[in-house]
Amino acid sequence: MTDEVRRTQDDARTTARTEPPRTGYGPPVSARRFDTVVVGAGHNGLVAAAYLARAGWSVLVLERLPEVGGAAVSRQVFPGVDVRLSAYAYLVSLLPDRIVADLDLQVTLADRAVASYTAVPGGPGLLVERDEGAPTAGSFRALTGSDAEFAAWQRFHGRVATLAEDLAPTLTEPLLSPAELAGRLRDPGLWHDLRERPLADVVADELSHDVVRGVALSDGLIGTFADVHAADGPAGRCFLYHVVGNGTGRWRVPVGGMGVLSGAMAAAARSAGAELVTRAEVTALEPRADGVTVHWTDDDGAERAVDAGWVVGGAAPDVLDRLTGAAPRPSVDGAQLKVNMVLARLPRLRSGVDPAVAFAGTFHVDEAASQLDAAHAQAAAGRLPDVVPFEVYCHSLSDPSVLGPAERAAGCHTLTLFGLHTPAALFRRDPVGTRDEAVRRVVAQLDAHLAEPLLDCLARDADGRPCLQAASPLDVEDSLAMPGGHIFHGDLSWPVAAAPDEVGAWGVATPYPRVVAASSGGTVRGGAVSGLGGYAAARHLLDRC
Ligand SMILES: Cc1cc2nc3c(=O)[nH]c(=O)nc-3n(C[C@H](O)[C@H](O)[C@H](O)COP(=O)(O)OP(=O)(O)OC[C@H]3O[C@@H](n4cnc5c(N)ncnc54)[C@H](O)[C@@H]3O)c2cc1C
Repeated sequence: MTDEVRRTQDDARTTARTEPPRTGYGPPVSARRFDTVVVGAGHNGLVAAAYLARAGWSVLVLERLPEVGGAAVSRQVFPGVDVRLSAYAYLVSLLPDRIVADLDLQVTLADRAVASYTAVPGGPGLLVERDEGAPTAGSFRALTGSDAEFAAWQRFHGRVATLAEDLAPTLTEPLLSPAELAGRLRDPGLWHDLRERPLADVVADELSHDVVRGVALSDGLIGTFADVHAADGPAGRCFLYHVVGNGTGRWRVPVGGMGVLSGAMAAAARSAGAELVTRAEVTALEPRADGVTVHWTDDDGAERAVDAGWVVGGAAPDVLDRLTGAAPRPSVDGAQLKVNMVLARLPRLRSGVDPAVAFAGTFHVDEAASQLDAAHAQAAAGRLPDVVPFEVYCHSLSDPSVLGPAERAAGCHTLTLFGLHTPAALFRRDPVGTRDEAVRRVVAQLDAHLAEPLLDCLARDADGRPCLQAASPLDVEDSLAMPGGHIFHGDLSWPVAAAPDEVGAWGVATPYPRVVAASSGGTVRGGAVSGLGGYAAARHLLDRC
């Protein structure tokens, strides 16, 4: 890791913290009492606000950061480089078309031509097109020596696709019992297996090649530190959420970047009459049987209070615990390394595969099943994995609109890297040193597949420094108030009622009167960029009141 890169990381964090407020999101607050106050303008808080305001509720949204969107934001990260990066979340799958239509969200979600490419040392790698055709079949054949693994892959993903089609519509309905859901599925066996058996066994039943298994298993490990050989649930749940989105499981690119999506949600809320205030940190909640007093500080640091009939918790559940004075629940650590980059040019690959093809989908590096196991074992023993499994993705190949005119003309591209099995605990003793070492490892691992070093391909910012910004889970916790830096605020839940009294409910209950959850971690089905948490919170309140 060079000093130059290290400085870029630290400076970029400072830049992000001092971003100016977006226009129009400020005091004055028009009333002393609102039907609902939304704590936190993450995308779920914004979705709840939009639905409630459209139903005629008076809504105030308070957001501690200078911008709305939480983890779903775009930023110009590098000074002098006109590129809007999706700074945290970058792909959308779980957002139902129904929410887009209901709220009239002006967003385009673009399909990627390539689903994934897996780099394999000394070989051409494994290409999986979005619409799997002859190149995909040929790629499986070249990797495995026969057509059997591709046939198995198609069989497995056929089952997954059927599950997605059947399960996705239930996500916008009140919670079903597990048995009711099973009764709606054409293939309840896969649902049963994911719930009851280790993900590694479910995948091994269908796929036999180490690399191919790894591509499937990585869906169970995004942002989730889990042992795929354990039948304890987190990997199976994470896998499920990564394959059922909108009934197809396709991961699409928000055109213009993730901030466009949050911006559209904010616009929907505002145009329906919701008031949005940024730099407004909620400091305490006093819930009562008839409403909640919300204490907050405004942009000038002045202490304010407002009454609400209901509070919608758009922030993580641990934040709500703290605000109500309750003992915080044990938090679950995040486990990802995120690296944002701007490239002066796409690097050439040793395999000879066109980088515009390989980087257009999810580019897997060192994510074979055996490598995932080795990395998990080392991280569970408290060590940064010698080989960090990760994936990279180039947004600008699918959507060049995130590049400014000069950057586009010069052939620049964005690159996002998402590392697995790097839990927050590994970074606590030496946050900067460990993050630097993790970055050094993933850069070296990627370089092993490149015909030219990655660092030579990085664009330079206005001060001549390479455009690379890294974030450990601790950085995410620090900037976004996501406990432990967990990208879903904690492990995902099965998308069904966990107890008989939850059947028919929306899965947004909190321990506090007149406070409902909307966030990724606070709701049963709110994980990832889906809006499902905000949708469920609004449906709960509208059904009830
Ligand atoms: C690095 C990274 C990569 C990811 N990649 C993807 C991806 O590609 N696709 C995907 O679907 N998901 C991805 N995710 C997950 C996804 O972004 C989140 O799960 C989702 O955005 C959470 O949305 P939310 O609205 O529930 O919560 P958040 O986005 O966490 O929003 C909560 C908001 O509450 C605010 N807040 C907290 N405390 C207070 C307070 N006291 N007062 C006022 N406001 C407060 C916060 O500032 C924040 O704006 C990623 C997440 C991360 C971190």
